[in-house]
Amino acid sequence: MKIICHGGAGHTPKVQDGVDKAAEEGWKILKETDNPTLAATAATIVMEDDFRFNAGTGSCLREDGRVQTDAAVATSDGRMSSITNLENFKNPVLIARELLDEFVTMLAGEGAVQFALEKGFKKTKVKGSEKGWTGDTVGAVAISSTGKIAVASSTGGVRGRPVGRVGDTPLWGSGFYCDKEIGILATGVGEAITKQLMCYRAYQHSNNLEKALEWGIRLLPKDTGVGMIAIRSDGQIYGTSNTSMPFKIIKD
Ligand code: ASP
Repeated sequence: MKIICHGGAGHTPKVQDGVDKAAEEGWKILKETDNPTLAATAATIVMEDDFRFNAGTGSCLREDGRVQTDAAVATSDGRMSSITNLENFKNPVLIARELLDEFVTMLAGEGAVQFALEKGFKKTKVKGSEKGWTGDTVGAVAISSTGKIAVASSTGGVRGRPVGRVGDTPLWGSGFYCDKEIGILATGVGEAITKQLMCYRAYQHSNNLEKALEWGIRLLPKDTGVGMIAIRSDGQIYGTSNTSMPFKIIKD
């Protein structure tokens, strides 16, 4: 059993305590349930509920002052889902998790809102934070005692981006990827990550996780903040960034 959480490539060690708390909550759930999906989402919710992070309640504002969030969940048994441009729900990662068992893999805007309401989620005014900036997406990857992997990610996007803009976080292979061998997440400037199909290409680069992620980070210019975390089914676990991204690993 293992879990790794990050608080965003653009964040600083000042919020390390929030990332630690998220990892501890995820770890607690992993120990109790041995379910990596519940663990990764539980950890992500802790950061969505912490106003210092650019996700859920603390999401940054779009160009027009609106808050639109993105979230993604994927599992090593072949399921993946994401929601994008969602307004007025405080824990977008839970809505993405709910979508995991549907035929549709991705919902945007009004469709995501409708889906959330149908599933019983309550609308909550999310004011967001004027402080949010690029690179504070949050996320977690967990592996169970039997080698099942799950990833969960959530973001307010990038401050000042236009309404309707889609970053990397909800995009399969760019901001998130998971299969029987790996669970991997990215954080940073979404446009740059998307152009590089960063998560999938880093995974393909090497079986050595450290090499793979360091190579992935170098796909982007040094001055473009980016970070990655991942777990491989053989037990390798690693996190890295070209910034001071706070992250935390807990394992037994
Ligand atoms: N990757 C996110 C996006 O571009 C930003 C972030 O990491 O905070 O939407």
